[in-house]
Amino acid sequence: MAKEKVVIIGAGPGGLTAGMILSHRGYDVEIFETKDTVGGRNAPIKMGDFTFDTGPTFLMMKDVLEEMFELSGKKAEDYLDIREVDPMYRLRYADGREFFPSHKNRDWMIDQIETLFPGNGVGYLIFLKREQEKYDRLIPCLKVPYDNWTKMFSKNLRHALPYLDAHISLYRNLGRYFDDDDLKIAFTFQAKYLGMSPWECPASFAIISLIEHNGGIWHPIGGLNAISKAMAKVIEENGGKIHLSTTVKELFTENGKANGVWLESGDIVQADRTIINADFAHAMHNIAREKDLKNWKPAKVRSKRYSCSTFMLYLAVDKLYDIPHHTICFAEDYKKNVAEMAESMVLSEDPSVYIQNACRTDNTLAPEGKSTIYILVPVPNTTADIDWDAEKDRFREIVLDRVEKRGGLTDIRDHIIEEKMITPDDWRDEHNVFNGATFNLAHNVAQMLVFRPHNRFEDIDNCYLVGGGTHPGSGLPTIYESGRITADIISHGDK
Ligand SMILES: Cc1cc2nc3c(=O)[nH]c(=O)nc-3n(C[C@H](O)[C@H](O)[C@H](O)COP(=O)(O)OP(=O)(O)OC[C@H]3O[C@@H](n4cnc5c(N)ncnc54)[C@H](O)[C@@H]3O)c2cc1C
Repeated sequence: MAKEKVVIIGAGPGGLTAGMILSHRGYDVEIFETKDTVGGRNAPIKMGDFTFDTGPTFLMMKDVLEEMFELSGKKAEDYLDIREVDPMYRLRYADGREFFPSHKNRDWMIDQIETLFPGNGVGYLIFLKREQEKYDRLIPCLKVPYDNWTKMFSKNLRHALPYLDAHISLYRNLGRYFDDDDLKIAFTFQAKYLGMSPWECPASFAIISLIEHNGGIWHPIGGLNAISKAMAKVIEENGGKIHLSTTVKELFTENGKANGVWLESGDIVQADRTIINADFAHAMHNIAREKDLKNWKPAKVRSKRYSCSTFMLYLAVDKLYDIPHHTICFAEDYKKNVAEMAESMVLSEDPSVYIQNACRTDNTLAPEGKSTIYILVPVPNTTADIDWDAEKDRFREIVLDRVEKRGGLTDIRDHIIEEKMITPDDWRDEHNVFNGATFNLAHNVAQMLVFRPHNRFEDIDNCYLVGGGTHPGSGLPTIYESGRITADIISHGDK
């Protein structure tokens, strides 16, 4: 019997995960990727002998990644050399205080809390205990699809509900454990991983900082883009095909059913099942035909809430800086900075800045004595009235001043050999990210679980979704889960 054929639009982490599991399960998998490299937002950026990650730099829940390799008949350790980064990161407050949260050394962690935020050490232990209960109940709910209302009344979700704290904000939740505002920020800035404000993000997401504190943060040698490369290798070893520099122009549908894709070349590739990994909102405007859509027509998609965007600088420099692998420099008025990013949608004159100095851990990314510096600044998405062509050079100066004065990148301007900048407009225009919202649809309660676009796409038969725009949401482990959930629906049906 001929193998069932699955076509996947996009070789981002979601598409690659579904592709590697399905190719192992005997499906004839073909992936079409518009770029000339795999990985999407998790692809490498090459500048001569320097390699940067485009997007993700924090790998959490390494066990989820390992499980995806196992489901594909492989062992992650045969493809990837993954090292722990501990202390996890350096948090630098505007007044000069520095905090080095550690997953491995709990005594040191409590000592630091007691020194910097006296009287709060015991709150940390309560945080770990209580948020673990939330984690234990929530995680099983994120591993299954929510494609109808019955799933909202599942036993797992009913048991989880009293622990979810979805009705209060992440920041308010941290008030249960800590009385110091700066310490609360150290456990809530993770809302930015979802592109949200801690004052708005549901407290259910406190599990993100718990995951860091209990499971640590990891770095694969070669950068996080090495994961995408490894997944692509597995797909090809399992008999799947990946076509790079091949753009899908449109879903090929007949009578409301996806039968494959039209390529920009004019060719039609027929398939039994079609998976969309391209950014969901981008796909609804550019890949699906409006006449095939029922629930997710472009006008409704536009009306949804979106995450923030990011302003990026990738600097190839002629020296190695003695700063940690990950640093976050908080704005002087962090709450105002976050409100500017998420509510008033203006460019902050006092931004928070994240710096990755990956060569500290990984000498494969740059020639000896040189290094790669990756700088990320959360900024409003492109629905804001910001003229990036006019602002980008001025904003670059603000950011470089900040990393020089507060981040430890002394005289950085004198050491830049080459650089690349990505603005929200670039995310939108060059990376096909709708509204330049780098972390997809926002993760407010009204856009989660059954309310998020379903893994089995509800509008078009035989069409499925993976990636940050579907359930469970943005962030690598959840995106890997989206790939697994969708692969399971295809091979085992809805459970
Ligand atoms: C700056 C930044 C930092 C981040 N940091 C982290 C982090 O530290 N940790 C973490 O866990 N997550 C992080 N994330 C979030 C998330 O993990 C990544 O964005 C992830 O790459 C998203 O995966 P995806 O599968 O949803 O889609 P994408 O990576 O966007 O992949 C979609 C693919 O579809 C392709 N495509 C689009 N249209 C077409 C078409 N018409 N034809 C063919 N192909 C098409 C695109 O080129 C792309 O390759 C970060 C994201 C960004 C942007």
